[in-house]
Parts: sequence; C-alpha cells; structure tokens
Amino acid sequence: MTDTSRRKFVTLMGASAVAIPVSAVIGTLPSHAAEPVDLASDQAVALQYVAVSEVEGKNCGNCTLYQGDEKSGMCPLFAGSEIPAAAWCSAHTPTG
Ligand code: SF4
Repeated sequence: MTDTSRRKFVTLMGASAVAIPVSAVIGTLPSHAAEPVDLASDQAVALQYVAVSEVEGKNCGNCTLYQGDEKSGMCPLFAGSEIPAAAWCSAHTPTG
C-alpha cells in the first residue's frame, strides 16, 4: 500500500466511524418526534379532526390511511404530524 492510498484508507475509515453512529441515531428516532396536528389548522377544521374519536368503533387505528402502530403514526392527510391511533377525522375509511 502506498502512502497516498494508505492516507485515503485512513481518511475513509475515519469518515465511516463518524457516519455510522450518526445514521444509527437517526434510524432510532421515535416516531413521536413529529408535532401533533394543529386542531385550529384549516385541514383539521375541514376534516373535523379530533385527537380522540367520538365515533363508536371508528378511529385512525382502523383507517386505511393510517400508517402506525397501536399508539400513534402518520396520515397522508396530515403530512408531517403525529396522529394518535385513537384520533378520527371525517375522511375515515375503515380497513377490511
Ligand atoms: S384519514 Fe382521518 S381517520 Fe384516517 S388516519 Fe387520517 S386522520 Fe385518521
């Protein structure tokens, strides 16, 4: 190995040592890092969004648009916001 290639190798290894821990941290960020839906937003008002469903048997957790687990997730109608599984809006579309 020449001095030049050794230098490149050492530089790459140093960069990898930094990059791996950063990507590991980003990959483990909790989904609740997103903000909750702004209840006063035009979208929330138009779709009558509520954080806790008042409609028997209907909530985000059983809506086809919901992407999350039994606690919280995301919905494309409220992109970038955290949606509780217990929430509901008038665009609810039941699964199955
Ligand atoms: S469409 Fe409405 S009910 Fe369905 S996941 Fe999105 S916010 Fe919840």
